[in-house]
Amino acid sequence: MALLSVYNTACVALPETIRWTNPNPAPRDDPQDPVTILVRDPSLAEPTEDCDHRRTLHYYCTVHDMMYTKGGCGQGAHEIRLVCSEHGPERYPMDQLMVWNPSGFDPTLEAQQLDELDRW
Ligand SMILES: [Zn+2]
Ligand SMILES: [Zn+2]
Repeated sequence: MALLSVYNTACVALPETIRWTNPNPAPRDDPQDPVTILVRDPSLAEPTEDCDHRRTLHYYCTVHDMMYTKGGCGQGAHEIRLVCSEHGPERYPMDQLMVWNPSGFDPTLEAQQLDELDRW
């Protein structure tokens, strides 16, 4: 796969597991407990183009062990995965909120690593 070979030749190493928690949740999302997204992890599948993700994707909260809808799955902090009904848990693409709030990454990422993450 072309994408994979580009990634393998990159000189910036990314941590195996990356999580992101929004440090500045929008007021309309308050008061809700912190939501952490599992962005990258060896347990996650690579997103593929061969299924209609507008139809298949949902969020799953592993803390409360149920589908996640904004604050609706239980009390306390949430950790969510992007789940495709055909491929299972998938890697989470860098989104605009992450770009705006890079301090939410765990572990902390360098600027070069953020660029690398954004290139996926
Ligand atoms: Zn939850
Ligand atoms: Zn899929």
